[in-house]
Amino acid sequence: MKFVVAMMKHETNTFSPVPTPFKSFANQAAYYGADAYSAFKGTNTPMAAFIDLAEKEGAEIITPIAAETWPSGTVHADAYERISDVICEAVVRGCDAVFLDLHGAMVSQISDDGEGALLERIRSIVPQMPLAVALDLHANITDKMLTNCTVIAGYTTYPHVDMYEAGQRAGNILIDTLKGKVIPTMACANRPMLPHTLRMGTDDAPMGDLVARAKTIEGKEALAVTVFGGFPLADFHDAGLSVVAVTDDDQKMAEDICQNLAQEAWQRRSEFVYTAEPLNESVARASKLTEGPILLIDHADNCASGGTQDTMAVVAEVMRQGLNDVAVGAIRDPEAVKKMIKAGVGSDLTLQLGGKMDMPTISRNGEPLEVTGTVKVISDGEFVVQGPMYTGVRMSMGKTAVLDTGSIQFVVIENNHEPFDLGMFRSVGIEPTAKQYLLLKSRIHYRAGFKPIAKHIVECNGIGVTGSDYNQFRFEKVRRPIFPLDPDIEF
Ligand SMILES: [Zn+2]
Repeated sequence: MKFVVAMMKHETNTFSPVPTPFKSFANQAAYYGADAYSAFKGTNTPMAAFIDLAEKEGAEIITPIAAETWPSGTVHADAYERISDVICEAVVRGCDAVFLDLHGAMVSQISDDGEGALLERIRSIVPQMPLAVALDLHANITDKMLTNCTVIAGYTTYPHVDMYEAGQRAGNILIDTLKGKVIPTMACANRPMLPHTLRMGTDDAPMGDLVARAKTIEGKEALAVTVFGGFPLADFHDAGLSVVAVTDDDQKMAEDICQNLAQEAWQRRSEFVYTAEPLNESVARASKLTEGPILLIDHADNCASGGTQDTMAVVAEVMRQGLNDVAVGAIRDPEAVKKMIKAGVGSDLTLQLGGKMDMPTISRNGEPLEVTGTVKVISDGEFVVQGPMYTGVRMSMGKTAVLDTGSIQFVVIENNHEPFDLGMFRSVGIEPTAKQYLLLKSRIHYRAGFKPIAKHIVECNGIGVTGSDYNQFRFEKVRRPIFPLDPDIEF
């Protein structure tokens, strides 16, 4: 037996001004052949699960490519073609099954439905190819995805700490299919709703309740059931919540499961709407708390949703209200990093920090903030994740430097990077458990590494292209009417 195992992952925020050329993948993860195998073998990812399953079966494993980068704007045509070409070329050379670690919310210049187009292409080459797909909880499921693969299973956690299990769930069903033990039948249902990602945390209701119900069903009537929250900022026709079920030769059962869960989500649609507190009130509330670490969640500029990771509104309010002993993780500002490296460790300097990118989709120009401090650390920005999300994966923040103003320590990085793991701070000599405040450019993923050390969590609504106020975005492609853009919609 010969299995092709590959990864192509990107969550596309079509409102993000951060470009997504191939270089973005190269900066984070674009490994070919044996390097793809060794970069992900033993990690908490679907790719690793697929490799383990293939090895257990004694299959020959081909890993043509594993490519992933943090969320950003529409994927450039050349990047999309380059990655999908490598996968398809491996399939053309011949194999018995394909296992793909995809995201599910990739919009490229070639196709709004990046994953659907890839799967369709593979199936056009080998129409009967057994094909298992693991997807992110934020996948926007399309008919094209559903009809061009054998099995779909997705993450059931946000923060995503069960990536490996999602790969196992999808992969095991495909292996059983190859052995003739099951005949997978798949269905999908959705409702016209665009939940806020801040209301998709699986520790909370309503998402946690839906996921728990799906898990119960998965243990009984179905081989796999996944509730996909969807990614609302990928503005294309099919964005939004959906449910996918895989049953053993029972199409009607798969359809019923999906319809029931989708209807439950629809009935609870108002719980999926996030309403933000004014920024000055959040920071004032945080300033009165005594026991740290207190997390200040700068969720409107979240790297892992496509933020520029350089807006300074929350930092400015923290400075205005005089919070002390703050570590900021992280500001993406390659220019500032360059200046700090040039100045050297121990140098004092004044920087126009952040605010380097304009955000035309929300009619905002970048607004840097003047800060004065001492360069404390210069680093290559690399670390291996120790925490529960992406465990074992080597991360690269690009060239990195720490500026200490006395009251605030800024981690300033060259490439964007989500603060989900304590390694972001520890790799540059900051002990996060010892800080009073940790200002994190995150929405939910911070919970993976930082929630266990937090005494308080305060969500701070700053500026950015990942904000929860849908009124600031001009949606053009998503199907209408859809809740809550059209609040009175009936279904
Ligand atoms: Zn996600």
